[in-house]
Amino acid sequence: MEQRKGLRLILFPMPLQGHLNPMLELANLLHHKGFSITIIHTQFNSLNPSTYPHFTFHSIPVALSQAEASTSDILAECLARLLSDNHEPVTCLISDLLFHFTQPVAESLKLPRILLRISAAFSFVAYAAFPLLLEKGYLPIQDSRLEEPVIELPPLKIKDLPVLKTMDPEKYYELVSGLKKETEASHGIIFNTFEDLEGSSLATIRQEFNIPIFPIGPFHKCFPAASSSSSSSSSLLSQDQSCIRWLNSQAPKSVIYVSFGSIAAISEAQFLEMAWGLANSNQPFLWVIRPGLVHGSEWLEPLPSGFLEALNGRAHIVKWAPQKEVLAHPAVGVFWNHNGWNSPLESICEGVPMICMPCLSDQMANARCVSDVWKVGLQLEHGIKRGEIERTVRKIMVEKEGEEIRERIFQLMEKANVCIKQGGSSYQSLEGLVKHILSLEK
Ligand code: UDP
Repeated sequence: MEQRKGLRLILFPMPLQGHLNPMLELANLLHHKGFSITIIHTQFNSLNPSTYPHFTFHSIPVALSQAEASTSDILAECLARLLSDNHEPVTCLISDLLFHFTQPVAESLKLPRILLRISAAFSFVAYAAFPLLLEKGYLPIQDSRLEEPVIELPPLKIKDLPVLKTMDPEKYYELVSGLKKETEASHGIIFNTFEDLEGSSLATIRQEFNIPIFPIGPFHKCFPAASSSSSSSSSLLSQDQSCIRWLNSQAPKSVIYVSFGSIAAISEAQFLEMAWGLANSNQPFLWVIRPGLVHGSEWLEPLPSGFLEALNGRAHIVKWAPQKEVLAHPAVGVFWNHNGWNSPLESICEGVPMICMPCLSDQMANARCVSDVWKVGLQLEHGIKRGEIERTVRKIMVEKEGEEIRERIFQLMEKANVCIKQGGSSYQSLEGLVKHILSLEK
């Protein structure tokens, strides 16, 4: 732990699991560097302050769906109070990049604002290219062109573009274009990625944005002792430790770990194809079935009766797992995931090959990187079908293709370990971030 700096940073995470984990890991890193930390959290998905006794917490009465104008007002009031109350000077606000309304609020209080991008640099490049994609006619996406390449963003296909099908396209494009401007008005962006993984996307961002860029990931590896406790304490659902005991009884690299994170949802038909594909693969599997994963179901009801019993202990099902511990377990051989950014990054850090089944927004671009750029996983390109699941599991776990994938992800894992050590790219970038924050203090 470095000497206290007598300076305070205010962090404002988006209250979703995949956003909270990296923001809290970043908070631990910056606290370790000597800054005092205040976290503003919303009543929706609020955090438990007692699990972070070294931070100060302020809860604001905001629901995720609340209108932006009232959220801005509540945030402005909270920040103004914190700025006048604090014994230590507040140096800057670090907010989730998607919280674009923080820009005018911070500006009105003359508070420098740094952004945390919790997803990949590559998908950020894709978002920044939206005006061009609109101009070239890639957007709005036409169903007849899904498999065509996006020449300007190789190796993306049109179907991989980070669109949000639940939102009106015009409003969405406007929001994304606005985000670019609000990002440009910030004092820098922190990325949970590293140069050896995303060097070319980071170079593109540096060229296009005239603000400092700090790739300092993988956060959870920079500071393992603090972050293993932080990932369980920032977990909104309780992590079922029974899976570690079950993994202890499995052969090395034999288990398929399956989890689709905190938001993605699938249909009952897809769920059943998954169940049969996993059962027919003849491999043991650990499956996170989050309540709400299957549209219209509470939990396991769609499984045929006797399905689990027939597998004779070859399957273990939990509602939520201690994911980082699971991935680090020697019994895990492959991670079938939805490619929310934390999942592939955590998988790379443990050298676990992936099966990709992206569901929404940036997940498709992340999956394309996993399968076609780093070549450390295979995608289920044609939806969820039991036969394809079986074939893909076999390719990764038994065939030569899997051996090559394992070799490549092992090399990436080594690079992830090196970049956070003294002299490594993320280590240096973190030093740069600390200097940058200190330079904001007038
Ligand atoms: N996670 C977990 N237990 C689970 C599934 C996920 O602790 O059973 C954690 C995982 O380690 C990751 C986060 O939840 O840090 C999910 O983030 P991701 O970006 O992968 O997906 P999202 O939930 O944002 O779609």
